[in-house]
This record gives sequence, C-alpha cells and structure tokens, in this order.
Amino acid sequence: MSKLKKANHPYHRFKKINIGAFNKPPYWVYKCTKPNCSYYIRCELATDQVCECNRCGKLMLIGKQVMTQNSSKPMTLPHCEDCTKRRKAPNAEKVDAITEFLERNKTEVPVDGLPPVLRKD
Ligand SMILES: [Zn+2]
Ligand SMILES: [Zn+2]
Repeated sequence: MSKLKKANHPYHRFKKINIGAFNKPPYWVYKCTKPNCSYYIRCELATDQVCECNRCGKLMLIGKQVMTQNSSKPMTLPHCEDCTKRRKAPNAEKVDAITEFLERNKTEVPVDGLPPVLRKD
C-alpha cells in the first residue's frame, strides 16, 4: 500500500503521470500536484478517492466519469462534473442555436455576428 506520509493538506489534487520505466509498459498514476506532497496512487485504484477539482477546487469523488472521460482513459487533470458540464454546455447551446437559425434561414447568411437566436416564434 501507499506510504501515508502526513500531508499538509486534507485533500490531494491529482494529475495523471506515467512513472513507468523507459522501455517498460506505461504505469499511470495520479500524483498529487500540491507542494511538498509525494502522494500518488495507481489510476486503476483511484476510483472513489476524494480529491480537489483541478478547475474549481471543490471536493469531488473520482468516479466512472473521471476514469473514462478521456476516450475511455482516465482524465489527465481530473475535474468535477460541474466543470465538465460548464465547459461543454455554452458552446453546445450556441452551436445548436446557429444550426437552428441556419435551418430556418437557409438562403441568408448572418453578416453581423450571431443571429438573434433568443427570439421565440
Ligand atoms: Zn497531496
Ligand atoms: Zn470543478
């Protein structure tokens, strides 16, 4: 098991790194990125670990989403569900709105930036 050296912070913040030796298969671990902390844990064993989100700093649990987000591999810098949504949602909505606008106005191309998508019919 991992050596439990007393850390100067209650929760770690993880980054995925490969500590495998040269010419050996990769050995992925989540290593704490905080100063003076040498804690790390194998990615496979990191499920259900509590850590800090790399974006908002809130506590999060390493769940299935973190472990499979990066084309079914663990995220490099784990972040919470909120941050995953926050990053995706605004752009996705914008794209949808533009698509919808173009569908309705096939012959017209908006010249001055974004179409007035908020208008409801
Ligand atoms: Zn730590
Ligand atoms: Zn977050």
